[in-house]
Amino acid sequence: MRRKMAAGNWKMNGSRAALSELGAIAAQITDLDVDTLICPPALYVSEAVGRTSNASLHIGVQDCHFEISGAHTGDISAAMIADLGATHVILGHSERRADHSETSEDVREKARAALHAGLTAIICVGESEDQRLAKNTLDIIARQLATSVPDASTATNTIIAYEPVWAIGTGRTATTDEIDEVHDFVRARLLRRFGEEGQGMRLLYGGSVKPTNAAEIFATNNVDGALVGGASLKADDFVPIIKALAAS
Ligand code: PEP
Repeated sequence: MRRKMAAGNWKMNGSRAALSELGAIAAQITDLDVDTLICPPALYVSEAVGRTSNASLHIGVQDCHFEISGAHTGDISAAMIADLGATHVILGHSERRADHSETSEDVREKARAALHAGLTAIICVGESEDQRLAKNTLDIIARQLATSVPDASTATNTIIAYEPVWAIGTGRTATTDEIDEVHDFVRARLLRRFGEEGQGMRLLYGGSVKPTNAAEIFATNNVDGALVGGASLKADDFVPIIKALAAS
């Protein structure tokens, strides 16, 4: 039985003042049987962990370096993230693949560092619109999965997020048939490679999840939760999504 998860990615949004949303979220989810995570910008992680230490809300980050330490100006290591009390790291988000030319090999090395530090890696995969139109979606997903997910991944230390690039921040959402097809495919690939552990790895959908479409998405086969960008910034938007997941 896979535990449901609602994960929020604040990207480069928010402020110290916006961290008050964490308390508002935490206060409304105490009775819900769902893992909930917010990944604020790294600068706010320490304060976010402090504010949520008594709550059932986990705090994560949006990236880490693949080395344990060293001469990498401006970067942060997985060990530093764990040291702060954060628990998860999003890796291979399409914005990082595009803005920082991250390859799936980079993502795998970062994931290895994250697992080594005791963090849970949320590894993102997803096709561009051109790749979908060219009917290459499943090939792209297969390649990203095979290369980005390290051999050391298990059901407890790795979560996969399927995020079609064309649905991120656009207001366009994949249809439930499209989500169903890719999530079934990802599950089959994980099972083939990791056996029982692959059966236990959670699969999140990401791409313009909102309070109005969450219930339909969560009713889809092999969807164990969501990775949410814009709608995770405000408790008023994120809490209804978490509640829809708990009710699914
Ligand atoms: C994301 O950033 O991972 C994401 C899914 O964003 P949004 O929900 O805003 O589309």
